[in-house]
Amino acid sequence: MLVSLSSILKAARKGRYAVGAFNCLSLEQARGAVAAAVQLRSPLILQVAEVQFPCAPMELIAPVFLRLAVDAPVPVCVHLDHGQSVETCLRAMELGFNSVMFDGAALPFEENVRKTKEVVRAARVCGVDVEAELGRVGDAGTDDEGRQNADIFTDPAQAEAFISATGADALAIAIGNLHGKYIATPKLNIDRLREIAGRIATPLVLHGGSGTSIEDFKACVHNGICKINVATALQIAAAEAVYGGEKTDYIGMKNTIEEATRKAVSWHMDLFESVGKA
Ligand SMILES: [Zn+2]
Repeated sequence: MLVSLSSILKAARKGRYAVGAFNCLSLEQARGAVAAAVQLRSPLILQVAEVQFPCAPMELIAPVFLRLAVDAPVPVCVHLDHGQSVETCLRAMELGFNSVMFDGAALPFEENVRKTKEVVRAARVCGVDVEAELGRVGDAGTDDEGRQNADIFTDPAQAEAFISATGADALAIAIGNLHGKYIATPKLNIDRLREIAGRIATPLVLHGGSGTSIEDFKACVHNGICKINVATALQIAAAEAVYGGEKTDYIGMKNTIEEATRKAVSWHMDLFESVGKA
């Protein structure tokens, strides 16, 4: 069943567990994620990020997510991850996503507040929930050195002000986490997480969930993180399974399939003499 982000995350916060938000770029990934949720009787968040649109356009993947969610016997939320503009968030709402993230973390605080509010206002009209981000989650590979730099961590007082100004339903925070494939396992700042969770009742979100240590995951789950984003780990698992552990490039694999299909279809079209008849 299609269930709101708020109700999934409020139950998680109350029950002190976290719900996985899995970035799925294909029918196979989305069906695999739903199969796990059904088998384990777990709530699930299916999501796709704006940077992933070249590989999985939201217009194409939204109907897949929504149909899977409606048919599933467990709660499933269909979420836009890292919407980079207000317009993308609005478009996602039109397509039926019942939750959107507006990522204004790179903007100055006031502008992040203003744009997040704009998304929240539109979302309220459509019955959609909104995740926002405060503090900077870096990218693995480029920001590894900076990950212990507390200057980019989410400030607890600012988080409180941000939530009361915007009314966002979930907040992604920076506590030393990075997106992508970590070179070294990061050490998350759990004290900072506790401070933030102590100030706001809003469910907190951990981005960059691939490659975190088991100990840190557990500490996050028990100290206020209610949603954990997992993207890279799924891509690695899929590509490794197909290539026998030799390659980890899921998007490359997907492109290879698409190109091979294009060539095979072209060969048949030529054989059937339908070329130029459209
Ligand atoms: Zn993220």
